[in-house]
Amino acid sequence: MKTFNVEEVISDFPILKRKNRGKHMVFLDNAATSQKPDSVIDAISHYYRESNSNVHRGVYELAEDAENLYHHSRKVISQYFNVSERETIFVRGATEGLNLIAHSFGVAHLKKGDEVIITEMEHHANIVPWQIVCEKVGANILVCPTLPDGSLDREWISGNISKEKVKLISLTAISNTLGTINPIAEIIFEAKKYGKTVVIDGAQSVPHERTDFSKLGCDFFTFSGHKVFGPMGIGVVLGKEKLLNDMSPYQGGGDMIDQVSFDGTTFARAPQKFEAGTPNVAGAIGLGKAIEYISQFSMGDISRHEHKLYEIAKNGLSEINGFLEHGTTKNKAAVLSFTIEGIHSHDLASFLDAQGIAIRTGHHCCQPLMKFLGVDATARASFAMYNTEEDSERLVEAVKKAVSILR
Ligand code: PLP
Repeated sequence: MKTFNVEEVISDFPILKRKNRGKHMVFLDNAATSQKPDSVIDAISHYYRESNSNVHRGVYELAEDAENLYHHSRKVISQYFNVSERETIFVRGATEGLNLIAHSFGVAHLKKGDEVIITEMEHHANIVPWQIVCEKVGANILVCPTLPDGSLDREWISGNISKEKVKLISLTAISNTLGTINPIAEIIFEAKKYGKTVVIDGAQSVPHERTDFSKLGCDFFTFSGHKVFGPMGIGVVLGKEKLLNDMSPYQGGGDMIDQVSFDGTTFARAPQKFEAGTPNVAGAIGLGKAIEYISQFSMGDISRHEHKLYEIAKNGLSEINGFLEHGTTKNKAAVLSFTIEGIHSHDLASFLDAQGIAIRTGHHCCQPLMKFLGVDATARASFAMYNTEEDSERLVEAVKKAVSILR
């Protein structure tokens, strides 16, 4: 394993050399998407320059190259998550992953009167697919409340998970808005005691902590490649093979079939059954490289580094009158969501942009959570492995300047 050295990491990410509004760029919108290292960019470029061909179809050498690269990537990803290749499905991202799970598994296993637990801190991607499916089958959604510090109401989960009507729980491993790290291992253990299906939205956890799918014991886990230094338009669903084999496909078309006739069609086995049409081969190859990239480091080192930056930013911003952090639980990722009394988050973000600093503002695709927080938007600085102490200091300095001017 490589020793974590932030300067070396920075040199792997070419975009970090660019300026934002003519100033050295401080990129603190990593929860929205991450930047890409050379190895990922090069792999995609190399694929299109040297190996581009459709997969699963050609018998010529070029097609074999593409096929080998594509399969190698699935292998790298499945090994990283300690899961078989059969259980590793390529999708477009966490959104498509959750839709696949809700539509393929949910529709078949939920019936009228059943209940699905989600939480108040979910991204819309883990709310809307369940609403659509529950409406279709006549099931109901139960929402686990958030406590004032931004943690989940564990007592509520314990009080509801055992209920006969509850069939499934789908929750995020880490809140994209609050940074809260949910005790998913504990919740999975409890849910499994009662035979419930567990779906984990890993969109925010994969960039910050290692997941061993087999050990974790959930039924499905999904994430997006672009948040973990990989390309956009590619993500993964990990699912238990037995469940995948019993599930009907979510989309139909080429590549996912065994035999097609006008009398009926039989399907290929997982993962192909869930990968209809020409796949995002370049994306998959890029994601494999991204996973190889993070595998070089200890996730503990990355997390310690990010937390140091988070603490610097938080301590500095706490000196501002009217600063309020949203999500203060101890066990949280390096995500700093905040509001400042008297200043709209959008105005603040525009001011920071002019200083070269990229943060996110808005509801972060968590409108129900915003309602709970009693705000329409927060400003969010989210840290990644290539951020520096100087980035945090510049954020603090710029926010203080913004307050002195905008108030
Ligand atoms: N879940 C969480 C927790 C997220 O933060 C996001 C994206 O911000 C998603 C799901 C959806 O990811 P994507 O838009 O890449 O499909």
